[in-house]
Amino acid sequence: MTRTTPPRPIDVTALFPSLSGLSTTATRLHPRPGAPSASDSSVAGPLRWPADEAWPVCHDGRNHYIHRLLTPATVRRQRAVHAARGTRHTLTNQERAQLPSPDFSEPHRLADQPIPLIPVAQLHRRDIPDFAGPDDCDLMQVLWCPLDHPEEGYNPRVRVFWRRGADLGPLLAEPPEPPVVNDSYLPVPCVVHPEQVREFPYGGLLPGDLGARIDAWEEELGTSYQSDLSLAPGWKIGGFANWSLTDPHPMDCAECGTAMTLLLTADSGEWEGRVSSWRPVEEPEGASADPVGVTIGRGYSLYVFRCPVSFDHPTATTMQ
Ligand SMILES: [Zn+2]
Ligand SMILES: [Zn+2]
Repeated sequence: MTRTTPPRPIDVTALFPSLSGLSTTATRLHPRPGAPSASDSSVAGPLRWPADEAWPVCHDGRNHYIHRLLTPATVRRQRAVHAARGTRHTLTNQERAQLPSPDFSEPHRLADQPIPLIPVAQLHRRDIPDFAGPDDCDLMQVLWCPLDHPEEGYNPRVRVFWRRGADLGPLLAEPPEPPVVNDSYLPVPCVVHPEQVREFPYGGLLPGDLGARIDAWEEELGTSYQSDLSLAPGWKIGGFANWSLTDPHPMDCAECGTAMTLLLTADSGEWEGRVSSWRPVEEPEGASADPVGVTIGRGYSLYVFRCPVSFDHPTATTMQ
């Protein structure tokens, strides 16, 4: 099933024509739980990983910030029990007995060993209108270490790989799994329904008095530029970041100092509330606004930026 973002409640460029030149496109991924194969674009599905290439691991060991560790199997069991019961009902005592207590953690020493990264996204150029990657690459793979890294703002550490599908020989059949994870960072395997949308910059980054003029207009009309007109929520490729947590700060390439471009957004939800203007028109009644099961901070987004000068320069992340 395709997913379609409803038209914006108002054409903001008709009121503020100078916004047209500042806009860009983003591809909403619309991830939904499913069973993607290694040849599909997916969020958290299996990756086409070369059998002769080492699977990436994190060696941060004791430098991880550790609160609560669970095995991936426990997180999956927990989700299955909640899914069977339905989100609107509390668990029975019998169901609760199948789950670890809220203060249970696997031993912290289990994070001392190398932690295999987990698949976060695999995207084919053919599927994603806003795909960005080296000219000769048609596949992007994103993985992260599913633990908290203090020097990454207490977030997962992300790695991005670009590949040429035609170059991939025999594939790795059984990728390693981390022994333990922070359950907020274990995404549910999802198929994607890419859709291109138009975005406008975060209000605080608009040039001149444009931001102030839009603020004044918002008060008059009661429509929110930020919530409804400028930035799509949810998992997406490209587009702009929403800096509402800290206000904008520069994201400059560690290698060459160039201002970076938004590559991928991993979000804690796809829309907010039952009346969100970003809820796809096809979405069935009662559909979860959090199909991926990832929570960044207290419900924020993890933005992965790339250097526009070279895909060989390191990516960088920020939480907003
Ligand atoms: Zn790590
Ligand atoms: Zn650079």
